[in-house]
Amino acid sequence: MSTPDLSNVDLSKAKLMKCEKCEGSTFKQTIMLHKLSALLSPNGQETIVPAAVFGCEKCGHVNSDFTQKSSLT
Ligand SMILES: [Zn+2]
Repeated sequence: MSTPDLSNVDLSKAKLMKCEKCEGSTFKQTIMLHKLSALLSPNGQETIVPAAVFGCEKCGHVNSDFTQKSSLT
Protein backbone atom coordinates (compact mmCIF):
# COMPACT_ATOMS: atom_id res chain seq x y z
CA MET A 1 0.00 0.00 0.00
CA SER A 2 1.36 3.43 -0.92
CA THR A 3 0.74 6.50 1.17
CA PRO A 4 -1.03 9.20 -0.82
CA ASP A 5 0.22 12.76 -0.60
CA LEU A 6 -2.56 14.59 1.20
CA SER A 7 -0.79 17.91 1.66
CA ASN A 8 -2.68 19.56 -1.21
CA VAL A 9 -6.10 18.18 -0.39
CA ASP A 10 -8.83 20.71 0.27
CA LEU A 11 -10.41 19.35 3.43
CA SER A 12 -13.47 21.54 3.04
CA LYS A 13 -14.45 19.24 0.16
CA ALA A 14 -13.84 16.08 2.11
CA LYS A 15 -16.73 14.41 3.88
CA LEU A 16 -16.58 14.87 7.61
CA MET A 17 -16.95 11.59 9.43
CA LYS A 18 -19.55 11.59 12.15
CA CYS A 19 -20.40 9.29 14.99
CA GLU A 20 -23.18 6.88 13.99
CA LYS A 21 -24.85 7.35 17.34
CA CYS A 22 -24.59 10.99 18.41
CA GLU A 23 -23.35 12.68 15.19
CA GLY A 24 -20.30 13.95 17.01
CA SER A 25 -17.43 14.75 14.68
CA THR A 26 -14.45 14.48 17.00
CA PHE A 27 -12.74 11.20 17.71
CA LYS A 28 -10.01 9.89 19.91
CA GLN A 29 -7.74 7.00 19.24
CA THR A 30 -8.42 4.02 21.37
CA ILE A 31 -7.64 0.34 21.45
CA MET A 32 -9.85 -2.64 20.78
CA LEU A 33 -8.71 -6.00 22.04
CA HIS A 34 -9.39 -9.11 20.03
CA LYS A 35 -9.16 -12.40 21.81
CA LEU A 36 -7.75 -15.04 19.54
CA SER A 37 -8.69 -18.56 20.52
CA ALA A 38 -5.96 -21.13 20.79
CA LEU A 39 -7.28 -22.80 17.63
CA LEU A 40 -6.74 -19.68 15.53
CA SER A 41 -3.61 -18.41 17.16
CA PRO A 42 -0.34 -18.98 15.32
CA ASN A 43 1.41 -20.11 18.49
CA GLY A 44 -1.39 -22.41 19.64
CA GLN A 45 -2.13 -20.35 22.75
CA GLU A 46 -4.99 -18.03 23.52
CA THR A 47 -3.73 -14.57 22.55
CA ILE A 48 -5.01 -11.04 22.96
CA VAL A 49 -4.36 -8.87 19.92
CA PRO A 50 -4.73 -5.09 20.18
CA ALA A 51 -6.01 -3.00 17.25
CA ALA A 52 -6.05 0.78 17.15
CA VAL A 53 -9.46 2.26 16.34
CA PHE A 54 -11.15 5.64 16.71
CA GLY A 55 -13.93 6.17 19.21
CA CYS A 56 -16.34 9.10 19.41
CA GLU A 57 -15.06 11.65 21.88
CA LYS A 58 -18.55 12.41 23.14
CA CYS A 59 -20.20 9.03 23.60
CA GLY A 60 -17.33 6.60 23.08
CA HIS A 61 -19.07 4.76 20.24
CA VAL A 62 -16.77 3.21 17.65
CA ASN A 63 -18.21 3.44 14.13
CA SER A 64 -18.46 0.12 12.30
CA ASP A 65 -16.47 1.80 9.50
CA PHE A 66 -13.47 1.90 11.77
CA THR A 67 -13.66 -1.60 13.16
CA GLN A 68 -14.03 -3.06 9.68
CA LYS A 69 -10.85 -1.29 8.61
CA SER A 70 -8.81 -2.67 11.46
CA SER A 71 -5.88 -4.73 10.31
CA LEU A 72 -7.27 -7.97 11.66
CA THR A 73 -9.03 -9.93 8.97
ZN1 LIG B 1 -20.92 9.63 19.57
